[in-house]
Amino acid sequence: MKIKFLGTGAAEGVPAMFCDCDICKKIRAGEGEKRTRSQVLIDGELSVDFPPDAFANCLRHGAEPGKIKYIFATHSHMDHFYAHDFILRGYKYAKLCVPSLDIFGNGEVMKVFGECTAREMKADVAIGINLHEIKTGTVYYAGYYKIIPFAAEHSATEECFLYYIERDGKGYIHFYDTGKIKENSLEVLKNNGAKAQLVAFDCTFGDTLKPESCRHMSIYDNLLMKEKLEQYGIIDSNTKIIITHFSHNCNPTHEHIARIEREFGVSAAYDGMEIEI
Ligand SMILES: [Zn+2]
Ligand SMILES: [Zn+2]
Ligand SMILES: [Zn+2]
Repeated sequence: MKIKFLGTGAAEGVPAMFCDCDICKKIRAGEGEKRTRSQVLIDGELSVDFPPDAFANCLRHGAEPGKIKYIFATHSHMDHFYAHDFILRGYKYAKLCVPSLDIFGNGEVMKVFGECTAREMKADVAIGINLHEIKTGTVYYAGYYKIIPFAAEHSATEECFLYYIERDGKGYIHFYDTGKIKENSLEVLKNNGAKAQLVAFDCTFGDTLKPESCRHMSIYDNLLMKEKLEQYGIIDSNTKIIITHFSHNCNPTHEHIARIEREFGVSAAYDGMEIEI
C-alpha cells in the first residue's frame, strides 16, 4: 500500500492563507515546508478527505483526481471536504475518468455535498457519484480495502471519523482532527483485528505544552495515544509514527520540526511524502 501525504497543513495552510505573522514570513522565505490542506492518497485511488487544494495537490505530486475511486471523508469541515469541484466530474469537463466515484462520510458530509453542488450539478455528472453515509462500529469494504471508521474527539455538532485502512494485510491509521480519544473508540479497532504498520497523528500544536483547544493534539498527546495503541496490540515497536496537520501556531520551521523529530523519535510528514507499507 502506497500512502502519499498530499497536504500536511491545518485548515489555514502553512504559511496561513491570510496571515503575515513572523512565522508565516519565515515560511514564505523558505525556512519551512509550505503545506496545503489535509489529504492522503492511497495507491492513487483512495483519498482520505478532499480539500480545496485537491486539484493543486494532484498537479504538484503526480496524481490524478480522475483516477480516484473512493473518498473517505473524516468530517465536514471545509479543509477536509470541499465538494464544489465534483460538478466537474463529467459532462464537457471530464472524459474517461473512472466510471464511478464512491464518497463515504457522516451525515454532515452528505449534507455539504448537497449544498455545495446544488447550483451547478448536472444529472449526467451526478449519476457517476455514489454517496454512502457510514458510522463507527461497522467495517466497510471498498475495492481491495477494508476500512474501519472510529470516533474522533473533534466536534460537538457531528461525529468525526478516524480511519483504519487495510490492504493485503497491511494497515494504516489516519489519526487526524482529533483530541485524545476515548478508550472504547480503540476497542472497535481491536475487536476487528486492526494491526497497523503506519500511523499518522494530528500534531497541530507541535510541542506546545498547553494547547488552547482539545479538538487537536500536540506531540505529547500523540505519544500518549501511541502508548494506548500499543497497549491494545493495534501497533507495535516496528510501527512507523508520522506527525502531520501542522499549523503556523506551532512554529513549523525546518529547524523546529527537526528538533521535534529528534527529541521525540517521530518523523514529520511534508507535502508529497510517500511511504510504502
Ligand atoms: Zn483539519
Ligand atoms: Zn501566521
Ligand atoms: Zn476539523
